[in-house]
Amino acid sequence: MANSIIWFRHDLRLADNPALLAAVEQGGPVVPVYTWSPEDEGEWPPGAASRWWLHYALAALDADLRKLGSRLIIRTGRTVETLVALVREAKATAVFWNHRYEPAAVQIAKDVENALRRQGLCVGEFHGNLLFDPRVTLNRQGGPFQVFTPYWKHCLSAPEPELPKPAPGRLSRPRQWPSSLSLDALRLLPTIKWAEGIAETWVPGERSASDRLTRFIEKALSDYSTGRDRPEKTGTSRLSPDLRWGHISPRQVWHAVKRSTRRQSPRVAKQAEGYLRQLGWREFAHHLLVHFPHTPEEPLRPMFARFPWNGSSEHLRAWQHARTGYPLVDAGMRELWHTGWMHNRVRMVVASFLVKHLLVPWQEGARWFWDTLVDGDLANNTLGWQWCAGCGADAAPYFRIFNPVLQGRKFDPDGGYVRRWVPEIAGLADKHLHEPWAAKATDLAECCIRLGRDYAEPIVDHAEARTRALKAYDRLRGRPDR
Ligand SMILES: Cc1cc2nc3c(=O)[nH]c(=O)nc-3n(C[C@H](O)[C@H](O)[C@H](O)COP(=O)(O)OP(=O)(O)OC[C@H]3O[C@@H](n4cnc5c(N)ncnc54)[C@H](O)[C@@H]3O)c2cc1C
Repeated sequence: MANSIIWFRHDLRLADNPALLAAVEQGGPVVPVYTWSPEDEGEWPPGAASRWWLHYALAALDADLRKLGSRLIIRTGRTVETLVALVREAKATAVFWNHRYEPAAVQIAKDVENALRRQGLCVGEFHGNLLFDPRVTLNRQGGPFQVFTPYWKHCLSAPEPELPKPAPGRLSRPRQWPSSLSLDALRLLPTIKWAEGIAETWVPGERSASDRLTRFIEKALSDYSTGRDRPEKTGTSRLSPDLRWGHISPRQVWHAVKRSTRRQSPRVAKQAEGYLRQLGWREFAHHLLVHFPHTPEEPLRPMFARFPWNGSSEHLRAWQHARTGYPLVDAGMRELWHTGWMHNRVRMVVASFLVKHLLVPWQEGARWFWDTLVDGDLANNTLGWQWCAGCGADAAPYFRIFNPVLQGRKFDPDGGYVRRWVPEIAGLADKHLHEPWAAKATDLAECCIRLGRDYAEPIVDHAEARTRALKAYDRLRGRPDR
């Protein structure tokens, strides 16, 4: 029997992996391959946190493959050349992979397909990383959706996503393995100590993803609608890196959540519906990226290309380094730096602060997130930033400007989140925690805090920043200044 190659991409799992199953169904030996090709990712090669994740994810995938009597072959170089050479070495007659939706990845897959077909190989591309294929999910006019609610309604009226398929029980190995690089040769891990906090927070891989899903269903799903907005709690699934890297498929999540609500009260079913709706936002983000592939760099609403940004590089640095003087913003930026992840509610607050309070272009924030998030995902990140900047599909209107103090009081009412990440002001009473500058000098002194020395003074005044942002918006719309 001839050998088949499974080319792993954003689908680092064995269960519910259509490309892997197709390779197995060929009946012969299977050669699992990962090619590290950052130069083929266009403007968006994986950031530092993603590279950290990838290192351990590949190690986990290799270990899982070995349990099935197989292993992972690792290569580096331009994808097309690497795969063509490998096909020859492995004497393979077929190559299978799952689709990715980022513009550069789509192009590479096309190039790979053409090159392999020219060599007479059988190739197969599968749809395994989304619930609904964005290429065929279209509105009544045959175009893409740009508003979430009708989009999701349309998806929910389609046949339910298929049941996930189990992992193969064994993989037949080739008579001789092609050579492989060691994982360390890819040099994915940072040389500085920065990733220690990430390592304390996450264990990448299929097994951990499945455990995370089980824990979420058992402990948090039934209270999702309130828990999801409380950053100090584990009220959400924290599956975003697992979905990003494909350690778990959205179909697995979808059906596990649905299954868990059988024989449960309508209230729990409603919570599950709310959770699956979040998966819907992930679907919508990919839908938008497929149909508007320029949006990682440019606003979906062209008018915003003329937005009069005038934020300074000092302000951008203060935001990146959690020195804005706004505790909720700084707490979020520290959570991100320390763990490679940030709670969704806080992502919205810090993003809004950057683009509206500081008037720094959203693309700068998107780049920082891309480098520091372990779940950095081109579709979700683009949607998130354009939503916050008011220039994307179904976005928050620009004139709705989050007040970081009120957001803190509402979503971190006991201050647990801020106290964890900004311990230097932990001693302040709850009423002052989200605006330390409003505390009396004696209250600050009692907690040994001098603003500007122990914790930053606010880099902008909220009311002034709000007025400035609204004026900039007026200028964009050609209206006289307020
Ligand atoms: C400015 C900004 C940037 C973002 N960048 C990214 C990113 O790079 N990668 C990323 O995966 N998410 C991004 N998000 C979306 C969201 O913040 C994360 O997916 C979420 O925090 C993940 O936490 P969770 O897995 O516990 O979510 P849960 O609440 O448990 O949701 C389950 C899953 O649904 C998806 N999801 C949830 N919320 C959203 C959303 N708003 N948009 C798209 N998908 C969503 C995620 O895949 C998530 O894992 C961004 C949001 C904002 C506001």
